Amino acid sequence: MKKVILSFFAMLATLVLSAQNSGTEGQRLRGGFQPGYQEEIIYEGPDVIFRQIDEHTWVGNGKVMANESVYLIEGADKAVLIDAGTSIKNLKKIVEGITSKPVSLYITHVHPDHTGSAVNDFPELWINAADVVNVPMFMKDYPGKINYLTDGEIIELGERQLEVVFTPGHTPGSTTYFDKANRYGFSGDAFGSGNLLLTTNFSTLWNSCSRVERYMVKHEIEKMYPGHYRGSNPETLQRIRDQKAVAEGMLDGTIKGETNANGMLGLNGSVSGNGFRISYNEIMGVK
Ligand SMILES: [Zn+2]
Repeated sequence: MKKVILSFFAMLATLVLSAQNSGTEGQRLRGGFQPGYQEEIIYEGPDVIFRQIDEHTWVGNGKVMANESVYLIEGADKAVLIDAGTSIKNLKKIVEGITSKPVSLYITHVHPDHTGSAVNDFPELWINAADVVNVPMFMKDYPGKINYLTDGEIIELGERQLEVVFTPGHTPGSTTYFDKANRYGFSGDAFGSGNLLLTTNFSTLWNSCSRVERYMVKHEIEKMYPGHYRGSNPETLQRIRDQKAVAEGMLDGTIKGETNANGMLGLNGSVSGNGFRISYNEIMGVK
């Protein structure tokens, strides 16, 4: 179990670093993560730094895996924490120091840099049931209650709402939470923060891109805060359209990927787009 998680991190680190050394985004980022946050720091601890996005919204960045991000979203009656990072001690206490509202934990997807040890601070949490396949490997010791999300459900926070939109691709249960009134969403790793690890296939990615493209246009969504936010890399409508085009090309054969010799966790193929890379499984991915 430990071995699996460690090799998962090693793979992720390799892929993140190599993606940053290729393409236009790589040129901007060469030399490390070089975060470009505009948001003001409101809390700094040994495991996490919280910054303020707007009056009732905060992002916390962990220090273990490429600025793994958690988001605190506060309404008039309750608050939601999206994701729990890798290893953030006292996360619940920290967020309760930022908001006075009761906090519930919602998850973008079951991976160890999003459902790490701090999930244990919470008596229950919410995931997309499709990610139950990842629970035995990445969340098997969670002692609380696992609740399941419904596609399209509205999470009512009091004078503020989040809409649940399933965006599978990175994992089968990857989920995006949209705040339509504020014209942004929180997409976890669904679109990769510049480096998408596609553990499903390109048909799945194409469908999620297509759906989110329509959603963003209809509701005038400006951006999605990703699962590894470093200030300069929100997911945009352009990014979604570019990824959709790459998925389309992979499906109809007009774009060819490359074999990646490392091939950890079966992600032995890779294809680059405008400022991003998609790693995929050559056998399962191209369908
Ligand atoms: Zn992930």
